[in-house]
Amino acid sequence: MITGMGANEFSRKPRGELRRISVFGSTGSVGINTLELVAASAEEFQVEVLTANENVALLAEQAKKLDAKLAVVANEAYFGELKDLLSDTEIEVAGGQKALIEAGSRDVDWVMAAIVGAAGLAPTLAAIQTGAIIALANKESLVCGGSLVLDNVRKYGATLLPVDSEHNAIFQVLDFNQIDKVERLILTASGGPFLNLSYEEMRLVSREQALAHPNWDMGAKISIDSATMMNKGLELIEAAHLFPLPPEQIDILVHPQSIIHSMVEYRDGSVLSQMGSPNMKTPISYTLGWPDRHQFNADRLDLAKVGSLTFLNPDPIRFPALRLARNALKTGKSAPTTLNAANEVAVKGFLDGELGFLDICSVVEETLQRSKIVELNSIEDIVDIDQLGREQALSIVKQFA
Ligand code: NDP
Repeated sequence: MITGMGANEFSRKPRGELRRISVFGSTGSVGINTLELVAASAEEFQVEVLTANENVALLAEQAKKLDAKLAVVANEAYFGELKDLLSDTEIEVAGGQKALIEAGSRDVDWVMAAIVGAAGLAPTLAAIQTGAIIALANKESLVCGGSLVLDNVRKYGATLLPVDSEHNAIFQVLDFNQIDKVERLILTASGGPFLNLSYEEMRLVSREQALAHPNWDMGAKISIDSATMMNKGLELIEAAHLFPLPPEQIDILVHPQSIIHSMVEYRDGSVLSQMGSPNMKTPISYTLGWPDRHQFNADRLDLAKVGSLTFLNPDPIRFPALRLARNALKTGKSAPTTLNAANEVAVKGFLDGELGFLDICSVVEETLQRSKIVELNSIEDIVDIDQLGREQALSIVKQFA
């Protein structure tokens, strides 16, 4: 049985007047949205840590604008450049993986975990171990380290708030005290840019077409994941960790308008949903204000203008990622970690022009078939399996190229 988050882990924590916050992955799509919200209520926040992987120009600009205490660049090769950019300030500067994890250990009230990929796991774990409120955008850290992450949340009394719009929606409407009255969770999916293409047409799509999501403006990796629907597969695994329901009670429904962000169906037939315009600032704002609701002037939802909301079941043939993710979740142990690692490698292969679009899922499937399933008991085990999965996937990508 999957252990999920219960009401206790989501229980309210008091907060001070000035909240000390850190944003990991501040130069990415979620990070930038987060900092725009923070800047709009600057008197409420003290920015402690901001991080990037390479984009030191934007990182330095953000750190200066928000008067951050520490700026960290994960890729150490950019440390010197960052240091130069911030040499005329009091802002502390650091570089490399160790510095990133140390930054996660800083004592703050709220952390946005918005690094993309498994690279986010170690700093997120470090932040969890401080007992802070973690706004979790980095779904891959739950996919590859789910049990470890949740064990640490419980052990250190941290609070995990889902940023992904679907999980944020469920969090807002799920009655944790009546879990036994829940029939199922319904994760909605836009279906991405290729929802209406045939299998043959999908074979030929370009990088630019795959990156052009119809509803959401996101980073490159999640945009490709949305196009293959692996994003929904990762979200299925994420939901199974976050919410105390077995995977069989989590369904996926395609809803191309992305207005209903997910639903909870109760045993009396009632279906509760959270709706809103497709704008990540809404769920981010929810986690930033939690347990209160933050004032945020998002485009208000005008349902008359939207006109109609449509729904359909996902096509398992054109979107095999859903089956791969569900199987990996069912298999458990190292399977989700391998799935995630292979997907990261395959997405990069597609973005670099080495793979066709449909090859992405083929690489993931073949990597899973060739990989042993083992128990994961520590972060070291996860890192090892992640690495093995990447190597295996890379060798398969080379065969495709
Ligand atoms: P982006 O690619 O836009 O940004 C990623 C951020 O992580 C950047 O700050 C990047 O730095 C940093 N980063 C990249 N690689 C590393 C690394 N190896 N070590 C440390 N930092 C790194 O991603 P998004 O903002 O789109 O997504 C972030 C996370 O949020 C993902 O897990 C995604 O699935 C999730 N998410 C995103 C949504 C969205 O709307 N974008 C919606 C829901 C969830 P640099 O800029 O220097 O490369």
